[in-house]
Amino acid sequence: MTFTLDDAKHLDQSDNLASFRQEFYFPNDCIYLDGNSLGLLSKRAEQSLLSVLDAWRQFGIDGWTKGENPWFYLSEQLGEKMASLVGANPQEVIVTGSTTVNLHQLVSTFFHPNNARTKILADELNFPSDIYALQSQLKLKGLEPDIHLIRVKSDDGRTLQEEDIIEAMTDEIALIVLPSVLYRSGQILDMKRLTKEAHKRNILIGFDLCHSIGSIPHALSEWGVDFAFWCTYKHLNGGPGSVAALYVNQRHFGQIPGLAGWFSSHKSKQFDMEHTLSPAGDVGAFQIGTPHVLSMAPLIGALEIFLEAGIENIRQKSLSLTRFFINLIQQELAEYNFTIGNPIEDAHRGGHLFLEHKEAARICKALKDKNIIPDFRSPNGIRLAPVALYNSYVDVWNTVQTLKDIMKNETYKQYENKREVVA
Ligand SMILES: *Cc1c(COP(=O)(O)O)cnc(C)c1O
Repeated sequence: MTFTLDDAKHLDQSDNLASFRQEFYFPNDCIYLDGNSLGLLSKRAEQSLLSVLDAWRQFGIDGWTKGENPWFYLSEQLGEKMASLVGANPQEVIVTGSTTVNLHQLVSTFFHPNNARTKILADELNFPSDIYALQSQLKLKGLEPDIHLIRVKSDDGRTLQEEDIIEAMTDEIALIVLPSVLYRSGQILDMKRLTKEAHKRNILIGFDLCHSIGSIPHALSEWGVDFAFWCTYKHLNGGPGSVAALYVNQRHFGQIPGLAGWFSSHKSKQFDMEHTLSPAGDVGAFQIGTPHVLSMAPLIGALEIFLEAGIENIRQKSLSLTRFFINLIQQELAEYNFTIGNPIEDAHRGGHLFLEHKEAARICKALKDKNIIPDFRSPNGIRLAPVALYNSYVDVWNTVQTLKDIMKNETYKQYENKREVVA
């Protein structure tokens, strides 16, 4: 079977999410395939940011309790809205901090090494920031990271085997932190299975959802995951540096936050100004200080779009877009030495593709000069994220045709095979 431009057009015509595309701003009318690094600005996100600015202008300090979105309750309200995207109860999600800070918070709350269990289990393909955070948390407990941070190995440098992870769940492990979707290969880990296996062995388990939030559905509460954390500037389109989020399963409510601050307080007690903390009875206890309100504001609008579109619909279109992309790569680029580094099967493939090539850095530069935005992951990876809310099948078609031209005419050779400061 051969795929054509007409197929792409037909798929776009029957796409029930197609109308969302017009809500987004495309820089220079590009084909934007980098929504898994920084999602695009939508008109609704822009509007909600302006509305929060307006509340500041109109109300000054009273903006904390007045206006359309009183700032004092915004973290809780956005958490409640976001809960459906991760399959949590509304009281289990709070919008706060940053991904890395939230990981610090959760590990400092849930990592209690004792004589037998002193180790944290992660993986060797994990995102560097997560590894740095785990290493520093171990050091803070007086434990040597080289001994106490166990990293599950990958056989192929791309993916992890769940069997290997389960085998590493020994009786020395106190805590497990893993990604839901691997940031390079886009592999989805089976969170349900891993949680079940961890709990069988009395180990707490948490997931970094940076690459799955807004792209695939989750059922964190049903699976019994202990904690999770994620950023909001990738698939969720919250804007550069937008406030992150975390989830804590309700059976852990009442735990004293490892990193406390006055925003950990029960809301009615916070302004009593006592020196003894009365923590919130729910996930709110894991906040630290004053929320970055202006970095949270775009999320009000951005999240509305997700709730309207429906995460199940988003996942379906995302799978269909990435499948079409893979088919075209196999059909059009067979002779150019690309390796498809992401899992091929639907159940194991997240929202982005990972194309490997030894000239990847300069192929990315050539694509950018053709107004197509991928991202490069050192040393040889091209990440391509066709985003359900704003990419089309024709975008995918055009990208593959452009890649083919770049390879056929060797235009990539005009560029240096070296990454930029921000890749
Ligand atoms: C994007 C990303 C981060 C980023 O952390 P910040 O604290 O927002 O800088 C961390 N972990 C993973 C897996 C990511 O994909």
